[in-house]
Amino acid sequence: MSIEFTDLPYPKDALEPLVSARTLEFHYGKHHKAYVDKLNAAIDGTDYDSLTLEEIVRRSLAEAKGAIFNNAAQVWNHEFLWHSMSPSATEPSAALAAAIESAFGGMDGFREAFKAASLGQFGSGWAWLVADGDNLEIRTSGNADTPLTDDVVPLLTLDVWEHAYYLDFQNERNRYIDAFLDTLINWDFAASNFAAEKQAA
Ligand code: FE
Repeated sequence: MSIEFTDLPYPKDALEPLVSARTLEFHYGKHHKAYVDKLNAAIDGTDYDSLTLEEIVRRSLAEAKGAIFNNAAQVWNHEFLWHSMSPSATEPSAALAAAIESAFGGMDGFREAFKAASLGQFGSGWAWLVADGDNLEIRTSGNADTPLTDDVVPLLTLDVWEHAYYLDFQNERNRYIDAFLDTLINWDFAASNFAAEKQAA
């Protein structure tokens, strides 16, 4: 069984002009696809190849199989990223808005904290909104690391590797983060992850 190169949830030009079709041709079509291809080559003929993607991420971390972990986590992170952005405007659900209020003092506080974290991530990595029970937190991870392997539930992510924004914003990571927070962020996806987490808790 091989890991699938999943479809984007929208056409490549759907996030224009903030994330261009050309960025998605490279970021999705080349980078994400390369992680899938390298993962499948690495697990072929091993006992990893009967596992789900999430199982591969967790087990390769536990077993310190770096090449498998890096590619598997990047596949998982990128699938999660595409869903963390939406071509249409979204709003947090009432439950999520209440949790944001209690964790960050409201949307402005969330925005400020998420921006500071994602700007402050040195080099390649990710910024995350995660839920730990009812409590929300912002975390960052370097390279392929993912909060999927921590005891928290990821709600949203932003890729801050340069390959995510260089064609559209060059070195100006701050403008890319603003585009995400002001326009692209998919609160429907975050709310459904939060609701599923509360149901499972
Ligand atoms: Fe990326």
